[in-house]
Amino acid sequence: MLKIENLHVRVAGRDILRGLSLEVAPGQVHAIMGPNGAGKSTLGHVLAGREGYEVVEGRVEFEGRDLLALEPEQRAAAGVFLAFQYPVEIPGVNNTYFLRAALNAQRKARGEEELDSMQFLKRVREKLAVLHLKDELLHRGVNEGFSGGEKKRNEIFQLALLEPKLAILDETDSGLDIDALKAVADGVNALRSPDRAFVVITHYQRLLDYIRPDVVHVMAEGRIVESGGPELAHQLEQHGYAWIRDRIAPEA
Ligand code: ADP
Ligand code: MG
Ligand code: MG
Repeated sequence: MLKIENLHVRVAGRDILRGLSLEVAPGQVHAIMGPNGAGKSTLGHVLAGREGYEVVEGRVEFEGRDLLALEPEQRAAAGVFLAFQYPVEIPGVNNTYFLRAALNAQRKARGEEELDSMQFLKRVREKLAVLHLKDELLHRGVNEGFSGGEKKRNEIFQLALLEPKLAILDETDSGLDIDALKAVADGVNALRSPDRAFVVITHYQRLLDYIRPDVVHVMAEGRIVESGGPELAHQLEQHGYAWIRDRIAPEA
């Protein structure tokens, strides 16, 4: 589904990603861990098509298509969902209105009919049920005064509505309380399916206690230096990232 080959990315004149390769198959959940500054968020931003990230080498294929050649909206239309690391607050804009606009933008880019209010509400109810959520967040302003956990529930709800094939979530290195971590984990677990893949970028080993990824990768200095099963996350918890640094030092 996703194939990243030897990706090199430069940001503000510095080489940040330095030969990153990764393959994700449908139905899989991959976790990407690594110390602060490893380039995890940079990877997320490049996949999202953010400006300021210069791809100097390598390829990214999504279902056989060149993902990097697509505009951000085209990536969404193709079925790639990228959660924002810092969700925007849009006070005064009703969350339901915002979500419907996001869904209809995606449908329009696919050449599909927009959903009318009735169809949209049907979809909303269906997804609320899947995620065991109440509709209280829908009637507020977009992320307005939301707690960390509420923001995460809202982000996961948006993900559920858009029904992506590939969801990439970047969980920040700070500011996520247990409530927020659980909101992410519960959402990912409820939305796992044989034709949907997740890439969860995180600094927290703890998140992986709730998610149980199929594959865990460790990133350091702009590439993946170790891959394994969920046990790799526990080794990291025990030995810390210094253990990985020792292992890659001879090559650097
Ligand atoms: P991580 O998410 O693993 O903590 P990042 O991808 O945020 O790492 O950052 C990797 C490196 O790239 C860091 O050294 C950071 O300072 C640098 N970097 C990231 N974004 C920018 C930017 N916009 N301008 C300059 N340097 C950046
Ligand atoms: Mg960081
Ligand atoms: Mg980061």
